[in-house]
Amino acid sequence: MALLEVKGLFVRYKVRTPLFAKQRYLSAVNGVSFTLEKGETVGLVGESGCGKSTLGRALVRLEEPCSGRILLNGRDLTHAKGKELKEMRRSFQMIFQDPYGSLNPRLPVFAALDEVIALHRKAPLAVRKERAAELLEMVGLTADALNRYPHQFSGGQRQRIGIARALAADPDFIVADEPVSALDVSVQASIVNLLQDIQQKSGTSILFIAHDLAVVEHISSRIMVMYLGSVVELAPSRQMVSSPRHPYTEALLSAVPTPEGGLSGRIRLNGDVPSPLALVAGCPFHERCPYAKERCRREKPPLLPVEGEEGRWCACWEPLSRAQR
Ligand code: SF4
Repeated sequence: MALLEVKGLFVRYKVRTPLFAKQRYLSAVNGVSFTLEKGETVGLVGESGCGKSTLGRALVRLEEPCSGRILLNGRDLTHAKGKELKEMRRSFQMIFQDPYGSLNPRLPVFAALDEVIALHRKAPLAVRKERAAELLEMVGLTADALNRYPHQFSGGQRQRIGIARALAADPDFIVADEPVSALDVSVQASIVNLLQDIQQKSGTSILFIAHDLAVVEHISSRIMVMYLGSVVELAPSRQMVSSPRHPYTEALLSAVPTPEGGLSGRIRLNGDVPSPLALVAGCPFHERCPYAKERCRREKPPLLPVEGEEGRWCACWEPLSRAQR
């Protein structure tokens, strides 16, 4: 049994509309399904506004799905509430993009960690302090940080504290929402390595959200690509990067700089991402896809297994063949 099973998840928001006008909705997540195994890291990539953060937040119940199911260890947490949700929260945590924004500037580090420790563990103060020091050590900081305030740390150190806070509940599953995007390039690698290290030691499963495919490839065993609220490709990382099957993945990959600092044959997509307020019929990518055919404008392709390629899924009527790449 997979640790996390997501089935046909939809998240929609009501949009403010004038009186007597027809209610409109913003479709942020459109029928996403996938599984995450125990101890696995899956990367989730896509342009900003594609719904990846909303999906991550829905998985840890910071957003309310309007339909679909989220099963964690076989337990349905889609609509869990009150005591049941509080108890289940022990199993999942989130690491945010902005470590400064996610830490209360008025709370010293111990208090920030203890908010989570005390919630899940009835223990005397001295024991909780010991646990807090242990967590800081796990993320490469020392116990003297416990009495200091967030503004006394660098961005990278604050993100380490954010990670320690997420680990305080011994979660089975962490959503890391662009955890390195707000950091200097020089510290990004150390945070990615830290997460990888923690994942290997603790067996925690991670959904790693980023817009940088190179970062995601480094840490993930599989990658999911999202476009306009839908997953358009899911594949083992190496296969995805070496031979994209979906035209959108191909375009994303073409924007990743080569080791020499250039771009290898960048594919420039026409236009902008369509509005999630008025989803177009057919394939969500058809207005920008260089391979679009008539059928693509009429019918939305489902995410289907790619023939002959184990563990690979693609939502395209004609997945790219090697000859096209
Ligand atoms: Fe392009 Fe058509 Fe495939 Fe959509 S279904 S990605 S429009 S080729």
